[in-house]
Amino acid sequence: MSEDRQNRLSKPLTPTTPIRSVDVVVVGGGIAGKACALGLAQLGLNTIEIAPDLGRHMPNPQGAQWGQRIYAFSPSTQKLLAHLQIWDALDHSRLQPVRDMRIYGDRGEKNDYLHLSAFEAGTPQLAWIGESNLIEHTIDQASRFQNKLDRMSDAVERIDVDADGSTLHLKSGGSIRAQLVIAADGANSPIRSQIGISASEESYSQSAVVANWLCTYPHLETAFQWFLPGGDIVAMLPLPGKQVSMVWSTSPEHAAELLKLDQAQWLERLTAIANGAIVKQLGELTLNSSPAAFPLRKIRSKRFIGPEALPKVALIGDAAHVMHPLAGQGLNLGLRDVSVLLNILGNKESFRSPSDLVLLRRYERQRQGDASALLWVTDKLKKLFSASSNTERQLRNWGLGLVNKSHFIKQRLIERALGEIDFE
Ligand SMILES: Cc1cc2nc3c(=O)[nH]c(=O)nc-3n(C[C@H](O)[C@H](O)[C@H](O)COP(=O)(O)OP(=O)(O)OC[C@H]3O[C@@H](n4cnc5c(N)ncnc54)[C@H](O)[C@@H]3O)c2cc1C
Repeated sequence: MSEDRQNRLSKPLTPTTPIRSVDVVVVGGGIAGKACALGLAQLGLNTIEIAPDLGRHMPNPQGAQWGQRIYAFSPSTQKLLAHLQIWDALDHSRLQPVRDMRIYGDRGEKNDYLHLSAFEAGTPQLAWIGESNLIEHTIDQASRFQNKLDRMSDAVERIDVDADGSTLHLKSGGSIRAQLVIAADGANSPIRSQIGISASEESYSQSAVVANWLCTYPHLETAFQWFLPGGDIVAMLPLPGKQVSMVWSTSPEHAAELLKLDQAQWLERLTAIANGAIVKQLGELTLNSSPAAFPLRKIRSKRFIGPEALPKVALIGDAAHVMHPLAGQGLNLGLRDVSVLLNILGNKESFRSPSDLVLLRRYERQRQGDASALLWVTDKLKKLFSASSNTERQLRNWGLGLVNKSHFIKQRLIERALGEIDFE
């Protein structure tokens, strides 16, 4: 978008300024909001995206230093990005396909592990690992050329919903009218609370420490995960070349301690856990980013559309659901919300407005099952592996080994992780 146009949009509206009215407003500038806004504009809907961070220039990641936010992208995310004409525009040298996943129980014994293989499942890869910035930068580029999409660097302070749509009141002083509002405003979603949708929230009393490491042994395109005694979980996700991205879920106190370690102290810690399996697998590790920590919680919004009496708003992404990162699925789930919404609005009967109750109900019906199932499984896995009694430990480790022997169960697990969605 030209600077002039950006300024015009961000300028406070005076009381005499007519309120601008569009088909859809997407509130939120995370990956879910950006992908949704682009997709809606590609459908021909006049769309505005609003978020305080939209003015921030997202540089194209390049060079040996890798971004701090690294994600596992599932095939359902790949399909959406391909549908949006984003996938082919990505720098694929910065995306690492994952061919195998190896998940180890906390006894460090040979039989307590689960191996999922793309080869065994008959799929080219189970996932891709890449930087958040890579995806965001490419969506930003595509959005600049989309004339049905305007992006505003602003925050929504209040939403008023009536029979014909919603009015959004902005921090800069202006207001916007929209037939449909998409709340992609993250885990604390101000829109969700303002329209009175309740959400259940539970803290895991854990933080995830993330850091990138250079390793001396090849990672074999494998994502490793170790469940440790006491409830910590360490994942090492492969990146292009000899590099891995670590996600270590641990108590907030331990996370704060980890953030202060120097290279030598880190190596000591990583060697001391999982019976030394991490360094045996990956060799010597050298820190290649500054570590960061994120608090972990589970949130499930009761409804995906609202307000109750007169729905004109749909929730997507973390605004609708937040889960533990142990399965690397939070964003993938949010992008499946986007895929379903685009499918529904792209195939709507011409007499229906984008906020027609029938369409919104279709969206909610199609999304609640997927979200509930994934939140439930992730939560149960997290709790099962935090349990500390000997019987529970033996049972879960035995369970891992048992699942590993069942081709049928493994196939179902992989299908869930791939999260297939087709565009009509
Ligand atoms: C350690 C860790 C590892 C993870 N790994 C994975 C992984 O491997 N794979 C995966 O799929 N998921 C993963 N996740 C989950 C993933 O990070 C989230 O699901 C995803 O980032 C949520 O994106 P979002 O766009 O819904 O929300 P957010 O990225 O939180 O964006 C919310 C947006 O709303 C804006 N906003 C807020 N309030 C307002 C307002 N009043 N007005 C306007 N805008 C507003 C914000 O500025 C922001 O732009 C991980 C999470 C963690 C913590």
